[in-house]
Amino acid sequence: MTNTPPVCNYEGSDYQQSFWEQGGRAYEDLAEAIALKRMLPKSGKLMLELGAGAGRNTPRYAGFERIVVLDYSTTQLAQAQERLGRSDKYIYVAADVYRLPFKNGLFDAATMIRVLHHMADAPKALAQIKSTLQPGAIFILEFANKLNLKAILRYWFGKQSWSPFTLEPVEFVKLNFDFHPKAIRQWLGGLGFSIEKMLTVSHFRLGLLKRIISAKLLAAVDGIFQPTGALVQFTPSVFVKAALPGSADSAAPASIIDLFKCPDCGHGNLLLKEDHLACASCGAKWSVRDGIHDFREQVK
Ligand SMILES: [Zn+2]
Repeated sequence: MTNTPPVCNYEGSDYQQSFWEQGGRAYEDLAEAIALKRMLPKSGKLMLELGAGAGRNTPRYAGFERIVVLDYSTTQLAQAQERLGRSDKYIYVAADVYRLPFKNGLFDAATMIRVLHHMADAPKALAQIKSTLQPGAIFILEFANKLNLKAILRYWFGKQSWSPFTLEPVEFVKLNFDFHPKAIRQWLGGLGFSIEKMLTVSHFRLGLLKRIISAKLLAAVDGIFQPTGALVQFTPSVFVKAALPGSADSAAPASIIDLFKCPDCGHGNLLLKEDHLACASCGAKWSVRDGIHDFREQVK
């Protein structure tokens, strides 16, 4: 086993229901849909959705032939499966982002929305993601912005000790991090990505506005302001579209098993057994149950 940073686990959580469906987040959800539409290619071959949760955003990637729906929590993945069904289009994978079980240079796109927020070692996670991408691939990343207007005002009025202007991440609640936009740009740039687009999202995350204005209208107005993110970013949420240089040359593997490598030893030859995948090199066994490929812990 390798040493990896702690992960925020939504196992057994009703996050989808309590946060999205009953939590008054219709505005944020619609505003995200607008931002994603502006960044997603119309079509593609193989998409990696990191931290897919219960699959709230997954239908928005339907232009891709196949989508790997990845989350750390199998209960979240079971909910995603209920929503999206079981077919060749969706491949459900439980894995740790610091130990991704995919061969290098596989995907032509990846997204990670509202997930970096939980990463204690963001640069390490981003480097892992980069290695799974093809030349020319795009990566759509949402991050929580520490340089948001509310944090700036609170800092100026002495209500908050940490500075929103410094580059290091702030952990305001255990395993909840906000990031400086410049730090994100530096990390992505250091990995060879170029930034193609930046959109600011959730300009109006205020209880009062959300109570008196319909979510649809508020999201539409948010959409008008999103392109200002190219110049300044003071919203709590920021979307980045990053791209790797080059153009894709390899076709996506035809068979699901050819996507995977052993996350323990890195070997690319996994053998399909009755209820698990076995590493041909180190012998590690990874469970496949109810359509979910589980690479978190070896099967004993
Ligand atoms: Zn192995």
